[in-house]
Amino acid sequence: MDFAFDARTEELRTKLLAFMDEHVYPAEAVAEEQRALLASPWDTPAVVGELKAEAKRQGLWNLFLVDQHSLPDAEYGAGLTNLQYAPLAEITGRSPHLAPTALNCAAPDTGNMEVLAQFGDEAQRKQWLEPLLAGEIRSAFAMTEPEVASSDATNIETRIRRDGDSYVVDGRKWYISGAMNPDCKIFIVMGKTDPDGADIRRQQSMILVPRDTPGVEVRRAMQVYGYEDHSHGGHAEVVFDGVRVPASNLIGEEGGGFAIAQARLGPGRIHHCMRLIGMAERAVELTCRRAVSRTAFGKTLAQQGVVQNWIADARVTIEQLRLLVLKTAWLMDTVGNRGAHTEIQAIKIATPRAVVDIIDKAVQAHGAGGVSQDFPLAELWAAARTLKLADGPDEVHQRSLARRELKKYL
Ligand SMILES: Cc1cc2nc3c(=O)[nH]c(=O)nc-3n(C[C@H](O)[C@H](O)[C@H](O)COP(=O)(O)OP(=O)(O)OC[C@H]3O[C@@H](n4cnc5c(N)ncnc54)[C@H](O)[C@@H]3O)c2cc1C
Repeated sequence: MDFAFDARTEELRTKLLAFMDEHVYPAEAVAEEQRALLASPWDTPAVVGELKAEAKRQGLWNLFLVDQHSLPDAEYGAGLTNLQYAPLAEITGRSPHLAPTALNCAAPDTGNMEVLAQFGDEAQRKQWLEPLLAGEIRSAFAMTEPEVASSDATNIETRIRRDGDSYVVDGRKWYISGAMNPDCKIFIVMGKTDPDGADIRRQQSMILVPRDTPGVEVRRAMQVYGYEDHSHGGHAEVVFDGVRVPASNLIGEEGGGFAIAQARLGPGRIHHCMRLIGMAERAVELTCRRAVSRTAFGKTLAQQGVVQNWIADARVTIEQLRLLVLKTAWLMDTVGNRGAHTEIQAIKIATPRAVVDIIDKAVQAHGAGGVSQDFPLAELWAAARTLKLADGPDEVHQRSLARRELKKYL
C-alpha cells in the first residue's frame, strides 16, 4: 500500500499551500474589514473576487468535479479523482470561509454543479452549469422544511404541480445555504410532484427555480449559534408562493428527486469531511503557537501536561480520520459512491464529532480569546458542530450503517 500522494497531487498541493500563504490567510482580515463597509453584509467583498481571479489564473479552479462514475471529469473540472482532490480540499478547510469559494469548490455550489453535470439536460447545463463553473453566479439547494422532519426526505411537503407547460411550486424551506447572497441566482428545489404515489421514494422531483421568479421570497437569515455566516451567503428561510417555472426546468424525470438527492450527498459529505480535517489542523496549529508563547503559573502552556495531552490526542485523531477519509475517496474512485456507502457514512459520523472536540480543546487553550472574534476558533467550532446535523444527522447515518452491518447476521 502506497501512502504517498501522486505527482499531480503533490504539484497542486505545493501550489495551493503557497496560494494560501500568499493570498488567502492575508485576505481573511481584509474580507472582514471590507464587509463592514458594504451596503449589505450579504454582498461579496472585493477581495473574494480578486482571490477567485488569482486561483483561476493559477489553475486552482473547479478541482472538485468528478463524474457520476467517480472517474475524473476533464470536460468540466480539473480532471482529478476523489483521492487527488481530498488533500487539496483539506488545505482549503484551513480557511473554510474563503478558500473553497476562491477555488470555486464551495458548497452548496459544488453539489449543485454535480447535479447539473450528471442529471441536467443540455439547455440546463448551458444556462446554469456554465456560469457556475465560471464562478459568475452562486446557487442554493432547497430541501429542508421547518414544518417536517427533513432528515427523512419522504416527509417533504413542498408541492410541484404540473400546469400546462409549467410547474407551480409552493412551499417553505429553511437553512438554505448561500441564499442570502444576491449572487445566488438559482435554486434547486426538492418537492413532491406525486404526493399520493404508491412508492414513497418516487413522489419527489427536483426543479430549477431562478431567484428572480415572482413568488420567490428570501425571507430571513437563520442563525448558526448566533452567527449569520455572511461568508457562506447565510442560511435563509425561503418561501415559494405560486412560483411558476417552465416545465423544462425539471431536472431529470418526475419522481427522480429522491435518487438525485442521494447521488448529490455522497461527494458533498466527503468534501465536508476533507475540509473538517483542515479545520482541525488549523486549530492544532493555533493551539501550539499559543501554547509556546503564553505563561501561566511559571510555565508556558506548552509545558503543561494537560495541554500536551490535548495536542497529542488531536494529532492521533487527525491521522486516523485522514486515513479513513482517503480510503473512502479511493473507494469512491474504484468501486463508485454506492460501493463506498458504509465508509461515506463512517466518515460523516466520525469526522465532525472528533473535530468538534479538537476545536473545543483549542478554544480552551486560548482562554477567553478562544470564544472571541479575534481568533477563528469559535466560528470554526460552530461550523464543525453543525456538520453533525447538516447533510444528514449522525443518528440517521448510524441507523443505516448499523442496519447494513446487522444484515450480515440475519
Ligand atoms: C448550517 C446548516 C446548513 C444547512 N444547509 C442546508 C441547505 O443548504 N439546504 C437544505 O435543504 N438543508 C440544509 N440544512 C438542513 C439540514 O440538512 C437538516 O437540518 C438536516 O437534514 C436535519 O433535518 P431537520 O433539521 O428537519 O431535523 P429532523 O429531521 O427533525 O431531525 C431532528 C433529530 O432527530 C433525530 N433523528 C432523526 N431521524 C432519526 C433516526 N432515523 N434515528 C434516530 N434519530 C433520528 C436526530 O437526532 C436529528 O438530529 C442545513 C442545516 C444547517 C444547520
